Amino acid sequence: MPRRLDLLLRFGGISPVQILLVVAFMLFLSASAPAQTWGDTLPPPCDDSNYGNCPKLQDGHSSPTKLDGAISYSFASDASLLASLGSQQAVDDFKSRARAAAQDWATKSGVRLSEAASGQAGNVTISVSGDPNTRASDGIVDFDPANNSRRTLTISDEYNGWSAEGKDSLFEHEFGHIIGIDDVGADECPGVNTVMRQSGSDAELVNGNSGAQPALNRPTRASNCDLDKGRKEYNQGVNTITPLSGGGGPNDGTGGGGYYYYPCTPYYWVEYWSWDGGETWELMDVSYAGCW
Ligand SMILES: [Zn+2]
Repeated sequence: MPRRLDLLLRFGGISPVQILLVVAFMLFLSASAPAQTWGDTLPPPCDDSNYGNCPKLQDGHSSPTKLDGAISYSFASDASLLASLGSQQAVDDFKSRARAAAQDWATKSGVRLSEAASGQAGNVTISVSGDPNTRASDGIVDFDPANNSRRTLTISDEYNGWSAEGKDSLFEHEFGHIIGIDDVGADECPGVNTVMRQSGSDAELVNGNSGAQPALNRPTRASNCDLDKGRKEYNQGVNTITPLSGGGGPNDGTGGGGYYYYPCTPYYWVEYWSWDGGETWELMDVSYAGCW
């Protein structure tokens, strides 16, 4: 039986004995990988050490409804939104808050999340429903029954009764599921600041963080640690990330030209076999592990 050795390597992280062989493979893989580039933003550092200790938020734990790769969303027809929400003003409010939440994730985390071109269907359909299951959950992300590679994001028709914080926070939360972050229970991991915390009652969405009780025990927008987690989830679902050239400027959140370009580092599983008890090793396989 040959001995087998599996290593997780990246450029620059390779022992001298293996470097020539591995670099040759890396260069081959880089040359053959499809190029995909975009401007990217570095999220602020996750400064909560308890966040990564919360089981649902740890590396390697994703939401079951995660979508890999670029995410685009589109809305159900205006007629159906109007029927559920009751007025054009409510429909406009609904759409603008959904768009703001998507843009918040995209600009702060670097996740590719944007609205589909007008008249085109995204891989996420956003709609409103009055069915008891949706009302009980307030918002639900699910597999599209017609196509497993698509998702539905359904919001309860109680929407008009919620506070601004409740509405914004719910959209932010549901997009978090599509990006790949799971729910954290209302009383789970106390003290951890995450938009992925489930609301404990419908009244929390009504009151938001207005000061009225019960208050909504989650931020309106993704926390820095949520952004960091979302970025990791997204980077694990795409094949190649290479930086755009140029860029520069501070990532200070001032908007408009405040971005800079930040590549992730591609890692590869490298498999060596030895037929002489470990004296010499032969590279047998290289496979892409992820980019972070
Ligand atoms: Zn949830």
